[in-house]
Amino acid sequence: MNRTVVLVGAGHAHLHVVSNARAFTTRGVRLVLVDPGIFWYSGMATGMLSGQYEPADDQIDVADLALRFGAEFIPGKVSSISREHKRVVLESGQDLTYDLLSLNVGSRVPPLDLPNDGTVRTFQVKPISQMADLRQELMGTGVLVSEINPGRVTTEFYEVALDDLESRSRAQNTGITELSPDDVAASIIHVLDAPRHVSINQLEIVPAEQTYGGYQFTPFED
Ligand SMILES: Cc1cc2nc3c(=O)[nH]c(=O)nc-3n(C[C@H](O)[C@H](O)[C@H](O)COP(=O)(O)OP(=O)(O)OC[C@H]3O[C@@H](n4cnc5c(N)ncnc54)[C@H](O)[C@@H]3O)c2cc1C
Repeated sequence: MNRTVVLVGAGHAHLHVVSNARAFTTRGVRLVLVDPGIFWYSGMATGMLSGQYEPADDQIDVADLALRFGAEFIPGKVSSISREHKRVVLESGQDLTYDLLSLNVGSRVPPLDLPNDGTVRTFQVKPISQMADLRQELMGTGVLVSEINPGRVTTEFYEVALDDLESRSRAQNTGITELSPDDVAASIIHVLDAPRHVSINQLEIVPAEQTYGGYQFTPFED
């Protein structure tokens, strides 16, 4: 009997699974993805807000992806799960049984409890589609958005990211002069000092010894 694997949510991990759907289907496994339909890539969201990318560049058509790789796609949101009956129910009322269920539905930002007297203006960045709305809202207001992309900066990141001392030491000891937090602060000042009619949408700064697309460190020869 064919087994059914149901993926709920086209999050990052499930996009990867769907792009390997043939590994399931060639084994006779039915792979089904349930998602509203458009995935917004957060890594490009600030670039979209600053005007480097069109909203369309930031989206993946999940139905198209599933079709291309041979997974089944069901548009919609799952509203409940019955583990007992191995069944998910969608908001539309449609239900679906599974042998194996995987959830990759991301997270939500809870509403903030802030005064509603006009003194504070907030904008939720999730769902990410709202950042496209924010870009539209800011047009013509004089509020400019810049994205600053630094390369390797000396931070405490690797102290907390890597437990293994050998990997940590390898990651930390690039042998180059890395950017300092002050270098990043200086680039912010540079953006703020631009004339009012100039919008610096994106600014990338990297150590001069960080080479090959930012993935390799080549110390200067003395
Ligand atoms: C503005 C912004 C910028 C960010 N930039 C970065 C960055 O540069 N680098 C980085 O590492 N992280 C970044 N993040 C964090 C990153 O977006 C999240 O950590 C990441 O998206 C989580 O991935 P995920 O796969 O768990 O979920 P998501 O990417 O959120 O995907 C979840 C999917 O599940 C779907 N879904 C939700 N509920 C249901 C349901 N009930 N039924 C069916 N489908 C459902 C959603 O529609 C969505 O498509 C950023 C976040 C924001 C908001």
